[in-house]
Amino acid sequence: MLKVGFIGWRGMVGSVLMDRMKAENDFNGFDALFASTSQVGQAAPDVGLETPPLQDAFDIKILSDMDIIVTCQGGGYTKKVYPDLRAAGWKGYWLDAASALRMDPDSIIVLDPVNRDVIDQGLADGVKNYIGGNCTVSLMLMAIGSLFKKGYIEWLTSMTYQASSGAGANNMRELIRQMTALGAAGKDLLADPASSILDLDRNVTHAMRAEDFPRENFGAALAGSLIPWIDSPLESGQTREEWKGFAETNKILGNATPIPIDGICVRIGTMRCHSQALTIKLTRDVPIHEIESVIADANDWVKLVPNTKEDTLKYLSPAAVSGGLEIPVGRIRKLNTGPEFLSLFTVGDQLLWGAAEPIRRILKIVIGHLTAG
Ligand code: NAP
Repeated sequence: MLKVGFIGWRGMVGSVLMDRMKAENDFNGFDALFASTSQVGQAAPDVGLETPPLQDAFDIKILSDMDIIVTCQGGGYTKKVYPDLRAAGWKGYWLDAASALRMDPDSIIVLDPVNRDVIDQGLADGVKNYIGGNCTVSLMLMAIGSLFKKGYIEWLTSMTYQASSGAGANNMRELIRQMTALGAAGKDLLADPASSILDLDRNVTHAMRAEDFPRENFGAALAGSLIPWIDSPLESGQTREEWKGFAETNKILGNATPIPIDGICVRIGTMRCHSQALTIKLTRDVPIHEIESVIADANDWVKLVPNTKEDTLKYLSPAAVSGGLEIPVGRIRKLNTGPEFLSLFTVGDQLLWGAAEPIRRILKIVIGHLTAG
Protein backbone atom coordinates (compact mmCIF):
# COMPACT_ATOMS: atom_id res chain seq x y z
CA MET A 1 0.00 0.00 0.00
CA LEU A 2 1.32 3.47 -0.88
CA LYS A 3 2.13 5.72 2.06
CA VAL A 4 1.08 9.36 1.81
CA GLY A 5 2.16 11.93 4.42
CA PHE A 6 0.13 15.13 4.91
CA ILE A 7 1.64 18.28 6.41
CA GLY A 8 -0.13 21.63 6.79
CA TRP A 9 -3.56 19.99 6.70
CA ARG A 10 -5.09 22.33 9.34
CA GLY A 11 -4.11 25.62 7.71
CA MET A 12 -6.36 27.47 5.29
CA VAL A 13 -5.31 25.59 2.16
CA GLY A 14 -4.88 22.29 4.01
CA SER A 15 -8.38 22.44 5.54
CA VAL A 16 -9.93 23.04 2.14
CA LEU A 17 -7.85 20.17 0.73
CA MET A 18 -9.09 17.84 3.49
CA ASP A 19 -12.72 18.89 2.83
CA ARG A 20 -12.40 18.34 -0.90
CA MET A 21 -10.68 14.97 -0.47
CA LYS A 22 -13.42 13.81 1.89
CA ALA A 23 -16.14 15.09 -0.47
CA GLU A 24 -14.57 13.24 -3.41
CA ASN A 25 -13.94 10.08 -1.36
CA ASP A 26 -10.21 10.39 -2.11
CA PHE A 27 -8.99 8.87 1.16
CA ASN A 28 -8.70 5.34 -0.13
CA GLY A 29 -6.07 3.21 -1.82
CA PHE A 30 -3.25 4.48 0.42
CA ASP A 31 -2.16 4.68 4.06
CA ALA A 32 -2.33 8.26 5.35
CA LEU A 33 -0.02 9.77 7.93
CA PHE A 34 -0.57 13.26 9.33
CA ALA A 35 2.22 15.40 10.74
CA SER A 36 2.37 18.81 12.40
CA THR A 37 4.98 21.40 13.27
CA SER A 38 3.19 22.31 16.51
CA GLN A 39 0.76 19.61 17.63
CA VAL A 40 2.83 16.38 17.69
CA GLY A 41 1.06 13.58 19.55
CA GLN A 42 -2.43 15.05 19.25
CA ALA A 43 -5.17 13.21 17.36
CA ALA A 44 -4.98 13.22 13.57
CA PRO A 45 -7.96 14.68 11.68
CA ASP A 46 -10.91 12.40 11.11
CA VAL A 47 -10.82 11.40 7.45
CA GLY A 48 -12.58 8.07 7.90
CA LEU A 49 -9.30 6.13 8.15
CA GLU A 50 -7.38 4.54 11.01
CA THR A 51 -4.49 6.95 11.45
CA PRO A 52 -1.79 7.23 14.13
CA PRO A 53 -1.49 10.43 16.24
CA LEU A 54 0.17 13.47 14.67
CA GLN A 55 3.82 12.88 13.84
CA ASP A 56 6.67 15.37 13.96
CA ALA A 57 6.69 17.15 10.58
CA PHE A 58 10.44 17.83 10.97
CA ASP A 59 11.40 14.18 11.49
CA ILE A 60 13.32 13.27 8.31
CA LYS A 61 13.26 9.56 9.19
CA ILE A 62 9.44 9.51 9.37
CA LEU A 63 9.11 11.57 6.19
CA SER A 64 11.61 9.32 4.36
CA ASP A 65 9.24 6.41 4.82
CA MET A 66 6.56 8.10 2.65
CA ASP A 67 6.02 7.42 -1.07
CA ILE A 68 4.30 10.78 -1.46
CA ILE A 69 4.39 13.88 0.72
CA VAL A 70 1.62 16.47 0.40
CA THR A 71 2.42 19.75 2.11
CA CYS A 72 0.33 22.88 2.51
CA GLN A 73 2.49 24.11 5.38
CA GLY A 74 4.24 27.02 3.65
CA GLY A 75 7.52 27.96 2.03
CA GLY A 76 9.49 28.23 5.29
CA TYR A 77 8.75 24.60 6.04
CA THR A 78 9.63 23.48 2.51
CA LYS A 79 12.96 25.32 2.59
CA LYS A 80 13.81 23.80 5.96
CA VAL A 81 12.80 20.19 5.33
CA TYR A 82 12.93 19.43 1.60
CA PRO A 83 16.75 19.73 1.04
CA ASP A 84 17.49 17.50 4.06
CA LEU A 85 14.96 14.94 2.90
CA ARG A 86 16.47 14.68 -0.58
CA ALA A 87 19.99 14.73 0.92
CA ALA A 88 18.94 11.73 3.01
CA GLY A 89 18.28 9.89 -0.26
CA TRP A 90 14.47 10.15 -0.35
CA LYS A 91 13.13 9.40 -3.86
CA GLY A 92 9.42 10.01 -3.25
CA TYR A 93 7.00 12.53 -4.78
CA TRP A 94 6.81 15.97 -3.20
CA LEU A 95 3.46 17.76 -3.76
CA ASP A 96 3.48 21.29 -2.38
CA ALA A 97 1.15 24.32 -2.25
CA ALA A 98 3.99 26.71 -1.36
CA SER A 99 6.00 28.70 -3.86
CA ALA A 100 9.50 27.73 -2.62
CA LEU A 101 10.25 25.11 -5.30
CA ARG A 102 7.98 26.37 -8.10
CA MET A 103 10.64 27.82 -10.35
CA ASP A 104 13.20 25.03 -9.80
CA PRO A 105 14.09 23.32 -13.08
CA ASP A 106 13.20 19.91 -11.61
CA SER A 107 9.69 21.05 -10.52
CA ILE A 108 6.49 21.20 -12.51
CA ILE A 109 3.79 23.73 -11.67
CA VAL A 110 0.52 21.82 -11.70
CA LEU A 111 -2.82 22.96 -13.09
CA ASP A 112 -3.94 19.87 -14.94
CA PRO A 113 -6.96 21.29 -16.81
CA VAL A 114 -4.44 23.66 -18.43
CA ASN A 115 -1.15 21.72 -18.51
CA ARG A 116 -1.95 18.00 -18.20
CA ASP A 117 0.40 17.37 -21.15
CA VAL A 118 3.31 18.96 -19.25
CA ILE A 119 2.47 16.91 -16.13
CA ASP A 120 2.26 13.62 -18.05
CA GLN A 121 5.58 14.34 -19.74
CA GLY A 122 7.10 15.10 -16.33
CA LEU A 123 5.86 11.82 -14.86
CA ALA A 124 7.23 9.93 -17.85
CA ASP A 125 10.58 11.74 -17.44
CA GLY A 126 10.80 10.86 -13.73
CA VAL A 127 10.13 14.36 -12.32
CA LYS A 128 9.32 14.03 -8.60
CA ASN A 129 8.28 17.56 -7.55
CA TYR A 130 4.80 18.85 -8.43
CA ILE A 131 4.01 22.27 -7.07
CA GLY A 132 0.71 24.17 -7.02
CA GLY A 133 0.86 27.52 -8.80
CA ASN A 134 0.31 30.98 -7.41
CA CYS A 135 -3.42 31.35 -6.71
CA THR A 136 -4.00 34.38 -8.94
CA VAL A 137 -2.04 32.85 -11.80
CA SER A 138 -3.93 29.54 -11.57
CA LEU A 139 -7.29 31.33 -11.52
CA MET A 140 -6.32 33.51 -14.47
CA LEU A 141 -5.27 30.46 -16.47
CA MET A 142 -8.45 28.55 -15.60
CA ALA A 143 -10.33 31.57 -16.96
CA ILE A 144 -8.35 32.46 -20.09
CA GLY A 145 -5.61 29.85 -20.55
CA SER A 146 -7.32 28.96 -23.81
CA LEU A 147 -6.68 32.45 -25.22
CA PHE A 148 -2.95 31.98 -24.55
CA LYS A 149 -3.01 28.55 -26.18
CA LYS A 150 -4.74 29.95 -29.28
CA GLY A 151 -1.93 32.51 -29.63
CA TYR A 152 -4.36 35.44 -29.20
CA ILE A 153 -2.42 37.22 -26.44
CA GLU A 154 0.46 39.59 -27.24
CA TRP A 155 0.64 40.98 -23.69
CA LEU A 156 -1.57 41.22 -20.64
CA THR A 157 -1.95 43.35 -17.53
CA SER A 158 -3.86 42.24 -14.46
CA MET A 159 -5.26 44.37 -11.67
CA THR A 160 -6.14 42.05 -8.81
CA TYR A 161 -8.54 42.17 -5.89
CA GLN A 162 -7.26 39.45 -3.54
CA ALA A 163 -8.97 38.02 -0.47
CA SER A 164 -7.66 37.99 3.10
CA SER A 165 -7.54 34.18 3.08
CA GLY A 166 -4.74 34.40 0.53
CA ALA A 167 -2.55 35.33 3.49
CA GLY A 168 -3.69 32.40 5.67
CA ALA A 169 -6.00 31.47 8.54
CA ASN A 170 -4.76 34.07 11.02
CA ASN A 171 -5.22 36.92 8.52
CA MET A 172 -8.83 35.87 7.90
CA ARG A 173 -9.46 36.06 11.62
CA GLU A 174 -7.84 39.50 11.75
CA LEU A 175 -10.10 40.79 8.97
CA ILE A 176 -13.18 39.79 10.97
CA ARG A 177 -11.71 41.35 14.11
CA GLN A 178 -11.19 44.57 12.13
CA MET A 179 -14.77 44.43 10.82
CA THR A 180 -16.03 43.87 14.37
CA ALA A 181 -14.05 46.89 15.60
CA LEU A 182 -15.52 49.06 12.83
CA GLY A 183 -19.02 47.75 13.56
CA ALA A 184 -18.59 48.65 17.24
CA ALA A 185 -17.34 52.15 16.32
CA GLY A 186 -20.44 52.79 14.21
CA LYS A 187 -23.05 50.94 16.26
CA ASP A 188 -24.65 53.76 18.29
CA LEU A 189 -24.81 56.24 15.41
CA LEU A 190 -26.13 53.56 13.07
CA ALA A 191 -28.95 52.80 15.51
CA ASP A 192 -30.05 56.44 15.34
CA PRO A 193 -31.48 57.18 11.85
CA ALA A 194 -31.22 60.90 12.54
CA SER A 195 -27.48 60.81 13.25
CA SER A 196 -25.07 62.62 10.92
CA ILE A 197 -23.42 60.52 8.21
CA LEU A 198 -20.23 62.53 8.64
CA ASP A 199 -20.13 61.62 12.36
CA LEU A 200 -20.54 57.95 11.44
CA ASP A 201 -17.77 58.22 8.86
CA ARG A 202 -15.50 60.04 11.33
CA ASN A 203 -16.00 57.39 14.03
CA VAL A 204 -15.20 54.57 11.65
CA THR A 205 -12.11 56.30 10.25
CA HIS A 206 -10.93 57.14 13.77
CA ALA A 207 -11.30 53.46 14.81
CA MET A 208 -9.39 52.32 11.72
CA ARG A 209 -6.47 54.60 12.59
CA ALA A 210 -6.47 53.89 16.35
CA GLU A 211 -3.38 52.38 17.98
CA ASP A 212 -5.32 49.36 19.21
CA PHE A 213 -6.97 48.53 15.87
CA PRO A 214 -6.08 44.85 15.19
CA ARG A 215 -3.40 44.89 12.50
CA GLU A 216 -0.62 42.54 13.70
CA ASN A 217 -0.97 40.29 10.64
CA PHE A 218 -1.76 42.69 7.80
CA GLY A 219 0.19 45.63 9.19
CA ALA A 220 -2.62 47.99 8.14
CA ALA A 221 -6.39 48.36 8.03
CA LEU A 222 -7.98 46.05 5.46
CA ALA A 223 -11.62 46.25 6.57
CA GLY A 224 -12.97 49.51 5.15
CA SER A 225 -9.69 49.99 3.28
CA LEU A 226 -7.31 48.10 0.98
CA ILE A 227 -3.61 47.25 0.76
CA PRO A 228 -1.96 47.64 -2.68
CA TRP A 229 0.99 45.44 -1.71
CA ILE A 230 1.21 41.62 -1.54
CA ASP A 231 4.41 39.70 -0.67
CA SER A 232 8.00 40.98 -0.67
CA PRO A 233 9.61 43.76 -2.75
CA LEU A 234 11.81 43.10 -5.79
CA GLU A 235 14.46 45.31 -7.36
CA SER A 236 12.17 45.86 -10.36
CA GLY A 237 9.66 47.74 -8.18
CA GLN A 238 7.21 44.87 -8.48
CA THR A 239 6.08 42.85 -5.51
CA ARG A 240 6.89 39.13 -5.71
CA GLU A 241 3.17 38.43 -6.23
CA GLU A 242 3.25 40.67 -9.33
CA TRP A 243 6.42 39.01 -10.63
CA LYS A 244 4.79 35.57 -10.34
CA GLY A 245 2.19 36.54 -12.95
CA PHE A 246 4.88 36.65 -15.62
CA ALA A 247 7.21 33.92 -14.38
CA GLU A 248 4.67 31.26 -13.45
CA THR A 249 2.23 31.78 -16.32
CA ASN A 250 4.99 31.28 -18.86
CA LYS A 251 6.36 28.25 -17.00
CA ILE A 252 2.93 26.59 -16.67
CA LEU A 253 2.26 27.09 -20.37
CA GLY A 254 5.77 25.96 -21.29
CA ASN A 255 6.24 29.08 -23.45
CA ALA A 256 9.60 29.13 -25.26
CA THR A 257 9.13 32.86 -25.89
CA PRO A 258 7.69 34.43 -22.73
CA ILE A 259 4.57 36.58 -23.08
CA PRO A 260 4.83 39.91 -21.19
CA ILE A 261 2.50 40.01 -18.17
CA ASP A 262 2.44 42.57 -15.38
CA GLY A 263 0.04 44.43 -13.12
CA ILE A 264 -0.75 45.55 -9.59
CA CYS A 265 -1.81 43.07 -6.90
CA VAL A 266 -4.14 44.46 -4.25
CA ARG A 267 -5.43 42.91 -1.03
CA ILE A 268 -9.09 43.71 -0.35
CA GLY A 269 -11.42 42.93 2.55
CA THR A 270 -13.06 39.78 1.23
CA MET A 271 -12.78 36.44 3.00
CA ARG A 272 -12.27 34.11 0.04
CA CYS A 273 -11.91 34.50 -3.73
CA HIS A 274 -9.44 36.46 -5.79
CA SER A 275 -10.84 38.65 -8.53
CA GLN A 276 -8.92 40.24 -11.38
CA ALA A 277 -9.52 42.77 -14.12
CA LEU A 278 -7.49 41.85 -17.18
CA THR A 279 -6.48 44.11 -20.04
CA ILE A 280 -5.25 42.09 -23.01
CA LYS A 281 -3.47 43.25 -26.14
CA LEU A 282 -4.58 40.74 -28.76
CA THR A 283 -2.26 39.60 -31.52
CA ARG A 284 -5.03 40.57 -33.96
CA ASP A 285 -8.61 41.83 -34.00
CA VAL A 286 -10.35 38.64 -32.84
CA PRO A 287 -14.15 39.06 -32.81
CA ILE A 288 -15.82 38.99 -29.37
CA HIS A 289 -18.01 35.97 -30.24
CA GLU A 290 -14.86 33.98 -31.08
CA ILE A 291 -13.16 35.09 -27.84
CA GLU A 292 -16.25 34.03 -25.89
CA SER A 293 -16.51 30.61 -27.47
CA VAL A 294 -12.78 29.87 -26.95
CA ILE A 295 -13.12 30.83 -23.25
CA ALA A 296 -16.37 28.88 -22.76
CA ASP A 297 -15.03 25.68 -24.35
CA ALA A 298 -11.77 25.60 -22.38
CA ASN A 299 -12.78 23.44 -19.41
CA ASP A 300 -15.76 22.24 -17.34
CA TRP A 301 -15.55 25.01 -14.73
CA VAL A 302 -15.29 28.26 -16.68
CA LYS A 303 -18.61 30.07 -17.08
CA LEU A 304 -19.34 33.03 -19.35
CA VAL A 305 -21.28 35.84 -17.70
CA PRO A 306 -23.19 38.14 -20.08
CA ASN A 307 -22.07 41.77 -19.89
CA THR A 308 -25.21 43.02 -18.14
CA LYS A 309 -25.63 44.56 -14.70
CA GLU A 310 -28.09 41.86 -13.65
CA ASP A 311 -25.82 38.93 -14.58
CA THR A 312 -22.72 40.64 -13.23
CA LEU A 313 -24.28 41.24 -9.81
CA LYS A 314 -25.67 37.73 -9.70
CA TYR A 315 -22.67 35.71 -10.89
CA LEU A 316 -19.46 37.75 -10.95
CA SER A 317 -18.45 38.36 -7.34
CA PRO A 318 -16.72 36.65 -4.40
CA ALA A 319 -20.12 36.38 -2.69
CA ALA A 320 -21.45 34.37 -5.64
CA VAL A 321 -18.37 32.21 -6.15
CA SER A 322 -17.02 31.50 -2.65
CA GLY A 323 -16.81 27.79 -1.83
CA GLY A 324 -17.48 26.69 -5.42
CA LEU A 325 -15.30 25.49 -8.28
CA GLU A 326 -16.89 27.66 -10.95
CA ILE A 327 -14.73 30.29 -12.68
CA PRO A 328 -17.02 33.04 -14.00
CA VAL A 329 -15.62 35.34 -16.69
CA GLY A 330 -17.58 38.47 -17.52
CA ARG A 331 -17.48 42.15 -18.52
CA ILE A 332 -15.94 40.92 -21.76
CA ARG A 333 -15.64 43.76 -24.25
CA LYS A 334 -13.25 45.56 -26.56
CA LEU A 335 -11.73 48.73 -25.08
CA ASN A 336 -12.18 51.99 -26.94
CA THR A 337 -8.38 52.17 -27.29
CA GLY A 338 -8.76 49.92 -30.35
CA PRO A 339 -10.15 46.58 -31.62
CA GLU A 340 -7.07 44.66 -30.48
CA PHE A 341 -7.59 45.63 -26.83
CA LEU A 342 -9.79 43.33 -24.78
CA SER A 343 -10.91 43.71 -21.19
CA LEU A 344 -12.62 41.22 -18.92
CA PHE A 345 -13.18 40.45 -15.25
CA THR A 346 -12.92 37.08 -13.58
CA VAL A 347 -13.40 35.68 -10.07
CA GLY A 348 -12.44 32.35 -8.53
CA ASP A 349 -12.16 30.73 -5.14
CA GLN A 350 -8.39 30.86 -4.68
CA LEU A 351 -8.51 28.23 -1.96
CA LEU A 352 -10.00 25.79 -4.46
CA TRP A 353 -8.63 26.22 -8.01
CA GLY A 354 -5.97 28.58 -6.68
CA ALA A 355 -4.57 26.15 -4.12
CA ALA A 356 -6.20 22.94 -2.88
CA GLU A 357 -7.81 21.59 -6.04
CA PRO A 358 -4.66 21.32 -8.21
CA ILE A 359 -2.95 19.58 -5.26
CA ARG A 360 -5.88 17.18 -4.75
CA ARG A 361 -5.85 16.35 -8.44
CA ILE A 362 -2.09 15.90 -8.76
CA LEU A 363 -2.19 13.50 -5.79
CA LYS A 364 -4.70 11.37 -7.71
CA ILE A 365 -2.64 11.64 -10.89
CA VAL A 366 0.58 10.58 -9.11
CA ILE A 367 -1.18 7.71 -7.31
CA GLY A 368 -2.62 6.62 -10.68
CA HIS A 369 0.86 6.80 -12.21
CA LEU A 370 2.43 4.76 -9.39
CA THR A 371 -0.27 2.08 -9.35
CA ALA A 372 -0.67 1.80 -13.14
CA GLY A 373 2.54 -0.11 -13.66
P1 NAP B 1 -1.97 28.97 7.04
O1 NAP B 1 -3.47 29.02 7.07
O2 NAP B 1 -1.25 30.03 7.79
O3 NAP B 1 -1.53 27.52 7.61
C1 NAP B 1 -0.18 27.07 7.64
C2 NAP B 1 0.10 26.37 8.97
O4 NAP B 1 0.05 27.30 10.03
C3 NAP B 1 -0.88 25.29 9.40
O5 NAP B 1 -0.66 24.10 8.72
C4 NAP B 1 -0.58 25.16 10.88
O6 NAP B 1 0.55 24.30 11.05
C5 NAP B 1 -0.17 26.59 11.27
N1 NAP B 1 -1.18 27.36 12.02
C6 NAP B 1 -0.85 28.32 12.93
N2 NAP B 1 -1.96 28.92 13.42
C7 NAP B 1 -3.02 28.34 12.83
C8 NAP B 1 -4.42 28.53 12.93
N3 NAP B 1 -4.97 29.45 13.76
N4 NAP B 1 -5.25 27.78 12.16
C9 NAP B 1 -4.73 26.87 11.32
N5 NAP B 1 -3.40 26.64 11.17
C10 NAP B 1 -2.53 27.37 11.93
O7 NAP B 1 -1.41 29.01 5.56
P2 NAP B 1 -2.17 28.75 4.15
O8 NAP B 1 -2.87 29.98 3.72
O9 NAP B 1 -2.95 27.49 4.24
O10 NAP B 1 -0.92 28.60 3.16
C11 NAP B 1 -0.11 27.44 3.11
C12 NAP B 1 0.80 27.53 1.88
O11 NAP B 1 0.00 27.52 0.71
C13 NAP B 1 1.64 28.82 1.81
O12 NAP B 1 2.89 28.54 1.26
C14 NAP B 1 0.86 29.69 0.87
O13 NAP B 1 1.69 30.63 0.21
C15 NAP B 1 0.33 28.65 -0.10
N6 NAP B 1 -0.87 29.09 -0.80
C16 NAP B 1 -1.87 29.69 -0.11
C17 NAP B 1 -2.99 30.09 -0.81
C18 NAP B 1 -4.12 30.77 -0.09
O14 NAP B 1 -5.03 31.25 -0.77
N7 NAP B 1 -4.14 30.84 1.24
C19 NAP B 1 -3.10 29.87 -2.18
C20 NAP B 1 -2.07 29.21 -2.85
C21 NAP B 1 -0.95 28.82 -2.15
P3 NAP B 1 0.74 23.31 12.29
O15 NAP B 1 -0.44 22.40 12.37
O16 NAP B 1 2.00 22.56 11.95
O17 NAP B 1 0.85 24.22 13.47
